[in-house]
Amino acid sequence: MPLVFIGHGSPANAVENNEFTRDWELIAQQIPQPKAILVVSAHWTTRGLFVLKTPQPKTIHDFYGFPQKLYNMQYPAPGAPEFADLTLELLKHHPADADNTWGLDHGSWSVLVKMYPQAKIPVYQLSIDYTKSPEYQYKVGQDLLNLRKKGVLIMGSGNIVHNLGLLNWGGTAYDWALEFDHWTKNAIETRDHDALINYQNTGKMALLSVPTREHYDPMLTILGASKPDETIRWYAEKCTLGSVSMRSFTIAG
Ligand code: ZN
Repeated sequence: MPLVFIGHGSPANAVENNEFTRDWELIAQQIPQPKAILVVSAHWTTRGLFVLKTPQPKTIHDFYGFPQKLYNMQYPAPGAPEFADLTLELLKHHPADADNTWGLDHGSWSVLVKMYPQAKIPVYQLSIDYTKSPEYQYKVGQDLLNLRKKGVLIMGSGNIVHNLGLLNWGGTAYDWALEFDHWTKNAIETRDHDALINYQNTGKMALLSVPTREHYDPMLTILGASKPDETIRWYAEKCTLGSVSMRSFTIAG
């Protein structure tokens, strides 16, 4: 299976039809049908590492101040307890525990409702251990490589540039946002994963683009699960609201 990283942006994308959601639909059409989907979502951060094992995960509405129709939405995909067990086994260098309390947060379902609206494909999630380094997030991805052979689509859901404190409603993207977004694209294309792990070394643009790491980390996990000879395809290559990059990509052999 290929790998996918989605810049998910606002939860409202789930009820909109826009240039970003149309690209998410396109990605689903262009890749093989997965047996299950493992989402590494920016919106499940934990102390320690957890794999969602619930057979029927609930839809979590983890956002405030949005239209009621967004709170009424459900994404009733089944869970994937067997793939969750396999994932726990594969994470031998990064011990993780099964979790039965979380569900599908909007990092998962606001995107999947566009990619796979029928909600038939089993979905489970891997948390982000917020106590660990960027290098750790990357190496977790390396442990997951073999899931791809089993038909699991590993999907990172975050945003490469994500600064909600500096949102610019209706305005153009900040120079530092565009600069960091382009720098990241170039580092992904040249497979300079060390630079992406040590992104803080780029200075001010990194500080502004990644004020907290949870939306950046899923991208590192996806890159960790990639192989050197694979092809990268770009989607939704745009910054929105001034300080949110919607840049998404697939990596396929
Ligand atoms: Zn988010």
